[in-house]
Amino acid sequence: MLEQTINFKITTTQESKISKVDWENLPFGKMFSDHMLVMEYSEGGWNEPEIIPFGPISFHPATSAIHYGQSIFEGMKANKSSEGEVLIFRPDMNAKRFIESCERMCMPIIPEGLFVECVRKFVEIDRDWIPNKPGFSLYIRPFMFSTDEFVGIRPSDTYKFIIFACPVGAYYNEPVNVLIEEHYTRAAEGGVGRAKVAGNYGASLYPAKQGQLKGYHQLLWTDAKTHTFVEESGTMNIVFVINGKILSPTEENDTILRGITKRSVLEVAKVWGYEIEERKITVEEVIAAIKDGSCTEAFGAGTAATIAHINKIGFRGDDYFLPAIETREFSLKVEKFMNDLKSGISPDEFGWLVKA
Ligand SMILES: *Cc1c(COP(=O)(O)O)cnc(C)c1O
Repeated sequence: MLEQTINFKITTTQESKISKVDWENLPFGKMFSDHMLVMEYSEGGWNEPEIIPFGPISFHPATSAIHYGQSIFEGMKANKSSEGEVLIFRPDMNAKRFIESCERMCMPIIPEGLFVECVRKFVEIDRDWIPNKPGFSLYIRPFMFSTDEFVGIRPSDTYKFIIFACPVGAYYNEPVNVLIEEHYTRAAEGGVGRAKVAGNYGASLYPAKQGQLKGYHQLLWTDAKTHTFVEESGTMNIVFVINGKILSPTEENDTILRGITKRSVLEVAKVWGYEIEERKITVEEVIAAIKDGSCTEAFGAGTAATIAHINKIGFRGDDYFLPAIETREFSLKVEKFMNDLKSGISPDEFGWLVKA
């Protein structure tokens, strides 16, 4: 419906790069599809979206996003069914979260319908870039940044919204090791932790690197005030299975990114009859539950990795190992369910897929 009212200006590439792709060896985020969508905001409104060949953009050195950080992004995936249908996983949820990020960062919103239509049209143009192999997908990256050429701190009057995409394989090739972080902070109450803001990730690099030097893939962040409650890990939300219950930190305060993968996993678990608790979870409780064997599973949930099984959790110099991956009934089942649903192998009983 909406599509008829949106005019897309489309210029396709003269030289597709697709024949040069090594599909057997796809490092995450290094290969880009043939096109990108660009939409500019000026004089109080969004201009016509354009789809053009993928390539560099030039900018003024005083471009405000670079200096003052009005820069937000999203991430979602598209797959192809065996019949060749293009299936995008819950782009409406990304659109809603993008609006929240816009509002928090004092940026103009993109209405949900326009956002989703931009994603659909773009994916339709680059549909040949959606890998056909199990475990592979097209990772779609919409983002927006301020473009006023101006030195001074105030919300920009102009913005650029861009969508590009990368064909990708698995994000992690092995179960992950995470380290409980008790000094550095990802997000404080009243801050921007709930928004997908570029600066959050820049700020996490130094602490994450310290963890990596100790041999961990990711940090497990704790709350800024007391460092006693578990929050989330890298770009993943965290889920535990303790005494057969599915547990995840509450998203009530604004320090945790509201992940679409975790929300979907919990919705599935609920339908499967699992008991679910979203509440504050202490580090102490998790460590005690691993020690006494009541914590049987732990995983990160996020678009890039879908489900990242956790092998061990480091805490104050000790490592606490989770049970063997093969024993993880819920994580394995939900991982397969999500992968089959996204790629059209099993029916879309939740109505989560949008066709391009
Ligand atoms: C993107 C992100 C997640 C996961 O969200 P999904 O919608 O599941 O991809 C979790 N935490 C942080 C900090 C993130 O940036």
